[in-house]
Amino acid sequence: MCFLRRCEDYFTGAFDPPPGIHSVGEHVQLEIAIYLDKVQNSNARKLQRLIFNCLLKRETCITGCNNMNDIDLIELGSYKELQGGNIALPSGYSSILDPIYNKLPPDCIKLNSQVTKIKWPSGIDNGTDSEDSDKTVIEVGGENVTNETVYVHCDDKIYEADSIICTLPLGILKSNDIFCPKLPKYKEKSIGRLLYGVVDKIFLYYDRPFLSQDTDEILLLWDSDEIGDWSEKIYSFSKVNDTLLLGWLSGNEAEIMEKLDDKIIGDKCTEILRRFLNDPCIPYPSKCMCTRWKANEFSLGSYTAIGVGSSQLDIEHIARPMHVNNNTIPIITFAGEHTHPNFYSTVHGAYLSGRAAAEMLIVCKREDEPLNTTVTDLSSWIQGLPLT
Ligand SMILES: Cc1cc2nc3c(=O)[nH]c(=O)nc-3n(C[C@H](O)[C@H](O)[C@H](O)COP(=O)(O)OP(=O)(O)OC[C@H]3O[C@@H](n4cnc5c(N)ncnc54)[C@H](O)[C@@H]3O)c2cc1C
Repeated sequence: MCFLRRCEDYFTGAFDPPPGIHSVGEHVQLEIAIYLDKVQNSNARKLQRLIFNCLLKRETCITGCNNMNDIDLIELGSYKELQGGNIALPSGYSSILDPIYNKLPPDCIKLNSQVTKIKWPSGIDNGTDSEDSDKTVIEVGGENVTNETVYVHCDDKIYEADSIICTLPLGILKSNDIFCPKLPKYKEKSIGRLLYGVVDKIFLYYDRPFLSQDTDEILLLWDSDEIGDWSEKIYSFSKVNDTLLLGWLSGNEAEIMEKLDDKIIGDKCTEILRRFLNDPCIPYPSKCMCTRWKANEFSLGSYTAIGVGSSQLDIEHIARPMHVNNNTIPIITFAGEHTHPNFYSTVHGAYLSGRAAAEMLIVCKREDEPLNTTVTDLSSWIQGLPLT
């Protein structure tokens, strides 16, 4: 949608948005209204309106929000598209992780273990929230703290570390009960301000193909501007292959869907397909599978977006490593998609932030080497991967 491209331009500060317009949704609706005003034929105007509604629903899934009115207009341009298009990894993310994993000594990775508490200096003894946690952790220079060990509580074990990289997702950071004491206020406020929306996928498996070969996607142009029940947030069903369809939905409706049984969701999707294809013989799927990212206790949402009132600075606040006692080596470093200023919400953002955090710690240990925190090179990752 070229209307979105125009929103991205405000980020550079070259010109100001229209007065009173703060969200991407408001701005796009304004542009749509101006555009549709020029369409003479009322049927064509209605059809185009429905297409815009459909595309806006798709955009909520790409951005990771309930409604584009939730997304900050000025900050939209902070997100950068990684050149080269999308790639699918035929054997999944293990083709990235295995080559890294295989170089590590055996048994140094502990899987399937839930971290329940991270106790960092000043919270170690009392285990309570510290109202002055801003004062006990410093960026560079500041007050002394007595203990410099981080304790990571994991199942029935406690691990001690001089330094940790925390890659807990934003949804978990928002849940606010892992760090003891709580993170400094500037971090907590930024964690609270950023959006961690819900985006889910519905997979419909069939025993036999039933769509024509030349159909790739069925766009759902719901006959109203308003969303009725949860299923009206599904904007399309796309063909993954001849016997597998994929639908996406976001936000409040995705949360409602997550609480339903797969069978009920499959039946609802069949009802929708029959209605839109005007064909009562569309079969029921043999299996319906859905993601439930909001309900998943290890994510509590899908990915990060910059909501109205938050900014790229919030991402930088979360990403900022925490030091104690003027130590060169940070006690806690943060990584994950929510810590990348331009590639938030993506796998490459997560990968690059993790690599930058690890490299920073290595360099800090060597002390005499210059720090490079702006790694954007993905070549070592992509090299040698079998791609479709
Ligand atoms: C529906 C959907 C579609 C997407 N499509 C794309 C796409 O096409 N392209 C793209 O680039 N990105 C896409 N993404 C986004 C991408 O998946 C994320 O940005 C990326 O996985 C983030 O990586 P991460 O390491 O920051 O977090 P995660 O992948 O969430 O990893 C965090 C890990 O921490 C673990 N964890 C959580 N809590 C605890 C705890 N208490 N103790 C121990 N471990 C814990 C979790 O189990 C998880 O393994 C999509 C996401 C969704 C939901």
